[in-house]
Amino acid sequence: MKKIDATPAGGPAVDAARVELMLGELRLPGIKMVWAELAARADKEGWPAARFLAALTEYEIAERSRRRTARHMSEARLPVGKTIATFDFAAVPMVSKAQVMALTAGDAWLAGGANLLMFGPPGGGKSHLAAAISLALVENGWRVLFMRTTDLVQRLQVSRQELALESAIAKLDKYHLLVLDDLAYVSKDQAETSVLFELIAARYERRSMLITANQPFGEWGKVFPDQAMTLAAIDRLVHHATILEMNVESYRRKTAIERKRGRGRPAKTATIKSSSD
Ligand code: ADP
Ligand code: MG
Repeated sequence: MKKIDATPAGGPAVDAARVELMLGELRLPGIKMVWAELAARADKEGWPAARFLAALTEYEIAERSRRRTARHMSEARLPVGKTIATFDFAAVPMVSKAQVMALTAGDAWLAGGANLLMFGPPGGGKSHLAAAISLALVENGWRVLFMRTTDLVQRLQVSRQELALESAIAKLDKYHLLVLDDLAYVSKDQAETSVLFELIAARYERRSMLITANQPFGEWGKVFPDQAMTLAAIDRLVHHATILEMNVESYRRKTAIERKRGRGRPAKTATIKSSSD
């Protein structure tokens, strides 16, 4: 059996296998991973015992936080590759990077259950920005769930058929932020849209939502079954909300056109030609 040498000060040798068993029982996977190596180093460098203990504890805390973030990252179901680093802020002049960075800290809005609403035509970067903000929030320790609105509504509707809507909505409470991507695509069916209303009402002033939609509020009459419910939903959503109006042309189309231009003829030649025309 592997034994760790006694310290220079003496004392009985330590049974390494038994230590690992105990660390496992105490659920200290971080310490279990590094203690032997760190102990050897501490012995070699003559660390005081307190320093050794502090180093182990710090490692366990850092490791737990890393695992937690990894868990939250996978449960968030974020679309891949949509980050703030890959978002071109020049394409959306009405949204400042500073404002977005402030939102990624989370504290100012998620703690109070405030909302973030993004409106604009298709292709303007709403889903990208919503995912990028979500990713940064998870990195900052918040829990997020990103869902297409149709999928979430469908899920809640199933819960309702099973008479478990309330508990399904309560389960979503563990997420500080619930992203409803593409609200406008919800079917007009009355039963479907009232689960959405119940979700909005349940989270009001407690838990945040980030909603993206192609149509501004004026068109939301088509999202909810009747006008009273539409107004009640909007009222709750905007009470504490940041609204980003992303009225820009489709990024997809814009980049496609630019690519085509770039392929056709060099931009420089084109400029000279047009100015001499
Ligand atoms: P929306 O949700 O508003 O319809 P998306 O976020 O899906 O638009 O954007 C469409 C595509 O264009 C995506 O691939 C997205 O990554 C990209 N895109 C949109 N806006 C930007 C931007 N400002 N910077 C970088 N990529 C962008
Ligand atoms: Mg989208």
